[in-house]
Amino acid sequence: MLGRFLDSPIKYLKGVGPAREKQLNTELKISVFEDLLYYFPYRYIDRSKFYQVSDIHHEMPYVLLRGTISNMQTIGMGKGMRLSAQFYDESGTVELLWFRGVKWIKENLKSGKEYVIFGRPSLFNRRFNIAHPEVEDYEEYQKNQLKVKLMPLYSSTDKLRKGNLDSKGFVKMLKNLVEVMPNQIPEILSQHLIEKYNLVSREKALRMIHFPSDSKEILLAQKRLKFDELFFIQLLLLKSKLIRAHKNSGVVFKEVGKNFNEFYHKHLPFTLTNAQKRVIKEIRKDVGSGHQMNRLLQGDVGSGKTLVALMSMFLAIDNGFQACMMAPTEILANQHYQGLNELLKDMDVNIAILTGSSTKKQRLVLHESLQNGEIQILIGTHALIEDTVKFNKLGMVIIDEQHRFGVAQRARLWKKASVPPHILVMTATPIPRTLAMTLYGDLDYSVIDELPPGRKDIQTYHFYDKDRLKLFGFMKKQIALGRQVYVVYPLIQESETLDLKDLEDGYESISRAFPKPKYQLSIVHGKMKAAAKDFEMQRFAKGETQIMIATTVIEVGVNIPNASVMVIENAERFGLSQLHQLRGRVGRGAEQSYCLLMTSYKMTAEGKIRMKTMVDTTDGFKIADADLKIRGPGDLKGTQQSGVLDLKIADLIKDEAILKAARAEAIELLESSPGLQSPENNAIARELERKERRSTDWSSIS
Ligand code: ADP
Ligand code: MG
Repeated sequence: MLGRFLDSPIKYLKGVGPAREKQLNTELKISVFEDLLYYFPYRYIDRSKFYQVSDIHHEMPYVLLRGTISNMQTIGMGKGMRLSAQFYDESGTVELLWFRGVKWIKENLKSGKEYVIFGRPSLFNRRFNIAHPEVEDYEEYQKNQLKVKLMPLYSSTDKLRKGNLDSKGFVKMLKNLVEVMPNQIPEILSQHLIEKYNLVSREKALRMIHFPSDSKEILLAQKRLKFDELFFIQLLLLKSKLIRAHKNSGVVFKEVGKNFNEFYHKHLPFTLTNAQKRVIKEIRKDVGSGHQMNRLLQGDVGSGKTLVALMSMFLAIDNGFQACMMAPTEILANQHYQGLNELLKDMDVNIAILTGSSTKKQRLVLHESLQNGEIQILIGTHALIEDTVKFNKLGMVIIDEQHRFGVAQRARLWKKASVPPHILVMTATPIPRTLAMTLYGDLDYSVIDELPPGRKDIQTYHFYDKDRLKLFGFMKKQIALGRQVYVVYPLIQESETLDLKDLEDGYESISRAFPKPKYQLSIVHGKMKAAAKDFEMQRFAKGETQIMIATTVIEVGVNIPNASVMVIENAERFGLSQLHQLRGRVGRGAEQSYCLLMTSYKMTAEGKIRMKTMVDTTDGFKIADADLKIRGPGDLKGTQQSGVLDLKIADLIKDEAILKAARAEAIELLESSPGLQSPENNAIARELERKERRSTDWSSIS
């Protein structure tokens, strides 16, 4: 049957036995023919073009040469034995090296004979050599000319290479697979789409992506496969959104009532920015629509998301519902709780907090007043999603700094009310638009793209460790002006003890440079008990200490406006979005703020780009774009856990046009034919079902 082919276990492929099957399975999750067919080459080498030895330069990944071998000799003994030969053409000479199979090679290659060699040049002692080149008799080569002109390269893993499966091994397997492929690959797009976008058939694309006969074919194959990939991701996302919209009628908040108005007119400490107003309007429209709101609110650090959250929660309580707000850390939950209490101090709203360190007794009381509806707003951490936490009438859920929460955790909140509550997910990690469209394609999307007025741009400087005295001098000046300073150390979970040591060493040297009683220091790290952390945070917040030395627990959301200097130690060890988050902890008051990036001289090229990006811009979206370019989308924080972004071929930066087209088509299709019943869309419907079956992650998203 058509389609069976793709589901065939990989061991049925010529040349793949049970052992290889197991390797492919554990190393690359390749288990059926389809997986291997969709294991695409990362690049191609043009094997039709000869270079000359003198052309070799060190950015060449591979080179094809025609010339003569001479001076073969073995060097060294035993394990260290290697074979060296000179290879020359009219332009010069390059050394060839073999460390394995020396005897066989020595017997089979002939000095003075013309060969074609293909391999990766590397520079050693300022001269190029090529180790383990492919060698072919020139006459043979000419006879086989048509074999493979554009040679695909596949990435392999160390373990696979040890098991003798390198790029060439993949070429062999795929050759065997493509050979038996004709008429076995069902079409998955409608004729309409294929014609409209001028796409090649799926079978053709799969052949051409592995074995193109020219570069035009690569482009054709890529276009088709990218379209497929993005189109089906969009269909999956949008379909679950659509189902939710039909299935999940939402609670309706008809009124903009007492609390909302009272706060807005009497207690709002400042005027809202236009962006805040716009987003609040969008949310009001959602919660009045009769459908469940699922909205992502993106706003740079300091853009004032908390206020939008509060206004949204008023919408719930003014209509007799409860609201809750979930933060990723206890520190943040506490801070939200205190901040909201301050804003609500002249109002009659019942607000409570629940975190991991709430005592049993506190919980008992809390559970009861939640269930009888006395508590109107509950702030908390993950503790909120425990099953014992039951609401009377939950109508609005706010999730702050969403990327710390798994999709499944989010889903548990859905279930806390008979009619699912409205959900507002807030994130300060700026996400490029294309990524948001893919990753959060199932959520509606709002942006606060404007900071409150009067903020001064944070000045960012990059210092080397040897400038430490200068740094201390600068800190002293700022402290003399009444400001406070953060000093942050990276935290890498694998080596917590080591990190702690960095932090402790830092603490010591700072204590020496900033002696008591003139200076007071706070220290906060992940190994401390929550209460101790909180105590130190409070001292700093109240201005009792001037310097806060911390690991990245400080990263998200902490708001202390008088702190105007952020020193980031070992800044090269942080990713861009984290650096940006950290910098966002300052610049929250009226004073000029500073961010000082400390690094050693030793930095990777990437590290240097990161420092420069930070110094050059404070625009979160520019930083997100730079981050995406450096790391690639698969690597962005939170994208892996979502299990959504397993892109095999599409590139969210380069393929924006295809993404937009694919999304538009997916929307049109679902709107005109929500069940995809028409025969024209049969192929799409079948593939969609298949994808839903193959992927377990999708089920937890809707
Ligand atoms: P974030 O979006 O990072 O969560 P916050 O909600 O913590 O930002 O707001 C950052 C700071 O800006 C807070 O001190 C808040 O009181 C202040 N703020 C928020 N909105 C406005 C506004 N419209 N005008 C002036 N200050 C504002
Ligand atoms: Mg915040």
